[in-house]
Amino acid sequence: MEKIKRYFLPESEIPTEWYNIQADMKTKPQPPLNPVTRQPMKAEDLYPIFAKECSNQELNMTDRWIPIPEEVREMYKYYRSTPLVRAYGLEKALGTSAHIYFKNESVSPMGSHKLNSAIPQAYYCKQEGVTNVTTETGAGQWGASLSYAASLFGLDAAVYQVKISYEQKPYRRSIMQTYGAQVTPSPSMSTRAGKDILTVNPNCQGSLGTAISEAVELARTTPNCKYTLGSVLSHVTLHQTVIGLEAEKQMEMAGEYPDMVIACFGGGSNFGGISFPFMRHKITGVPGKTHTRFIAAEPASCPKLTKGKFCYDFGDEAGYTPLLPMFSLGHKFQPANIHAGGLRYHGAGVVASQLLKEGLMEAVDIKQLESFEAGCLFARAEGIIPAPESCHAIAATIREVKKLKPGEEKVILFNLSGHGLVDMASYDKYLSGDLINYELTDNDIRKNLDEIGNLA
Ligand SMILES: *Cc1c(COP(=O)(O)O)cnc(C)c1O
Repeated sequence: MEKIKRYFLPESEIPTEWYNIQADMKTKPQPPLNPVTRQPMKAEDLYPIFAKECSNQELNMTDRWIPIPEEVREMYKYYRSTPLVRAYGLEKALGTSAHIYFKNESVSPMGSHKLNSAIPQAYYCKQEGVTNVTTETGAGQWGASLSYAASLFGLDAAVYQVKISYEQKPYRRSIMQTYGAQVTPSPSMSTRAGKDILTVNPNCQGSLGTAISEAVELARTTPNCKYTLGSVLSHVTLHQTVIGLEAEKQMEMAGEYPDMVIACFGGGSNFGGISFPFMRHKITGVPGKTHTRFIAAEPASCPKLTKGKFCYDFGDEAGYTPLLPMFSLGHKFQPANIHAGGLRYHGAGVVASQLLKEGLMEAVDIKQLESFEAGCLFARAEGIIPAPESCHAIAATIREVKKLKPGEEKVILFNLSGHGLVDMASYDKYLSGDLINYELTDNDIRKNLDEIGNLA
């Protein structure tokens, strides 16, 4: 019998609703707190910064299914469904009896999953009469996705890009500019947050935390301007559940159900996106579907899930954002300059943090060299050069395969969050032996954590 390698859904089977795991969680996440008064925030309190619909989704604890607007579904159809691929090549390279599948989100026009949330966020802004959107970006994947989505709906986009990435990754900047976005290296003199930092340290190379502070400040001080975020928040992860909902149907076509679901973890949106639709069966106790393990793979140099602390912390360096209950390394934590730029964030999404606390998911940390070694093995076996972020999911998959007994036929599903074709400078460094592992001492971690224990 011929083996099927890729599973697609017809357009009519593309999900019409996103899955809101908050409705099924037995213990709901604690609310965000106002950064000044420390009082719980309601959706209305988020309206000045985010689109109203996104604010409502963020705190929606009751509706399990949220309709995907028709205009958004129409845009999804340009690249969805994304293929579910049986990784026969990787299985062979590893000599395993495990059945390995990956969901290939790298086929979006932007090369990663981020467009799944950029489209609805831009759409809701347009619906609500907003004319300008702003955001921050590190490596540039989110900034590029938002720039494109903004152009689709006729919005002006202003992106603050972490200065070191702006200089080191000029192609992602050109991508954003090609879509018509205005890109500013952060820290900049255009905001108070940026000025404050540059006054103290004129050579500051920037961080995501600082860039967020600048983008939020611009949204607050510009009429008809909203801030958008590419990860961490619950509504972003909600939009990403289109990945797992499709994968669930595609796994059914393959006649299998995953024993493990694995994804890399920056703020948690692609992890939640592929995991939560499967996790709903575990939470609600569907027979035969409660055994699945959910594994988040984070970089050893930014280990909020495996070594961080669960507490209220700010999402940005300046402390403008609401305080969020999450696993964090502290909002002043400056991660080493690893090449998986999308995983260099100090905090984990609120929902994933609560699920980890309850033992519904697990986390592993992966060193930089192990991640690229896995990425190169995957590239040679499957032909796709994975994004440095996605390499972490592949490395975690390989680790699990190596733990299996000979002949054990476990079904593993991982998310290929993006391709690495705009990240070849990182592969260059790895191949020429110039990449290093960054070791974090307990002291490095404790230093920033001591400060946040008493924020709320
Ligand atoms: C941004 C990004 C990530 C990390 O973000 P999450 O919200 O944790 O998914 C992972 N992979 C790629 C390719 C990215 O662009």
